[in-house]
Amino acid sequence: MPDLTESQLLAFDRDHLWHPYASMTAPGPTRLVTHAHGVRLRLGGGAELVDAMSSWWCAIHGYRHPVLDEAVGRQLGRMSHVMFGGLTHEPAITLGHLLVDLTPDHLQHVFFADSGSVAVEVALKMAIQYQRGRGHPGKRRVMALSGGYHGDTLGAMSVCDPGGGMHAMFAEALPQQVFTSRPPAGLQSDTTAWEAETRELATRHAAELAAVICEPVLQGAGGMHVYNPRCLRVLRDICDEHGLVLVFDEIATGFGRTGTLFAAEHAGIAPDIMCLGKALTGGYLTLSAALCSTEIAAGLGASESRVLMHGPTFMANPLACAVAVASVKLLVERDWSADIRRIETALTYGLAAAGALPGVVDVRTLGAVGVIQLDRPVDVACATDAAAARGVWIRPFRDLVYAMPPYITGDDDLATICNAMTAAAAV
Ligand SMILES: *Cc1c(COP(=O)(O)O)cnc(C)c1O
Repeated sequence: MPDLTESQLLAFDRDHLWHPYASMTAPGPTRLVTHAHGVRLRLGGGAELVDAMSSWWCAIHGYRHPVLDEAVGRQLGRMSHVMFGGLTHEPAITLGHLLVDLTPDHLQHVFFADSGSVAVEVALKMAIQYQRGRGHPGKRRVMALSGGYHGDTLGAMSVCDPGGGMHAMFAEALPQQVFTSRPPAGLQSDTTAWEAETRELATRHAAELAAVICEPVLQGAGGMHVYNPRCLRVLRDICDEHGLVLVFDEIATGFGRTGTLFAAEHAGIAPDIMCLGKALTGGYLTLSAALCSTEIAAGLGASESRVLMHGPTFMANPLACAVAVASVKLLVERDWSADIRRIETALTYGLAAAGALPGVVDVRTLGAVGVIQLDRPVDVACATDAAAARGVWIRPFRDLVYAMPPYITGDDDLATICNAMTAAAAV
């Protein structure tokens, strides 16, 4: 097959390749990326864009980081993959060790999966099987928060926002879960009414509930919604009262994004199961993890099958584990929280003027997340073009223009991102 020109590549892409949340019959525009380095994507034709998305919140150290490149190269020279059934390897062990050390104390056992959605599936299976092992086979539904997002596989979808487009078409095909309201917006909001509703709901369904799942403090793809960490303490309390498993989906919030290493730390409480993904490998390769407590592992071991019936082909892929080790160390061995504070300040300052634009209903920041919320759905193509014309890559969704930049983004690039977001919100 001959080398294709850029326009031939894009033509094939348009005719044959699915993109995320896209149509094959009416595809949206796509841009061809040829290289990426630091915080910049280089497009076919040579233009460069500052990536304000960290490639969907993963590339926290930017692209072609020498330490991460070196880790992949070194592991490639040993083995890129080996099955995890009956075999093990140093990259998985070192990564497991790091995660057990960094996450709340009682999370001691690590299941490596290959994507965030699968980690959520594993977490839900763990919770249901734990309940069976403890003699409660009827406890198999899950309570979730409205407005949440936990992935695109069927089990994960069942705990996503029940009204959202991700979910509605498949409602009949999904397990019917129990939803409490979305907690009120704001870190310091009054949560009294939400708490009463949630406690009442949990009490009513206690006999059939296995678990509660949420994204702590920041609901990401469900609307970049920030809420009071107090709600997490309420959920912990409810789980303790009714013997439910508390699952924190930290796939988006983990590894510093919200200002604490894990968002659970905002509330000072620990879940029974924690899901990690996205930034785990610094955006190099796909890998996720579901960590659980010894109590969960023991309950599961007491169930009829005794084993956790899950085992992805690429479980604990050595290349992915090796780069994850390098990425996590790179993060925690430096003053990452100073970078997050610096980015938070720059986003807060740089986006302030957007609050005065017509149609802007809210501007908010939390850690290295900056959001402009509109009173209407964003015209994604126009907003993306407006930002690209100012040298920035963003991918708005619904009524949100937002940034989740790599932690290495410099102050000048942060200012450029804020200008581009403001322009995108004005189209
Ligand atoms: C992205 C995301 C997922 C799904 O992860 P994938 O790797 O895309 O399957 C699950 N939960 C949360 C909170 C996420 O942000």
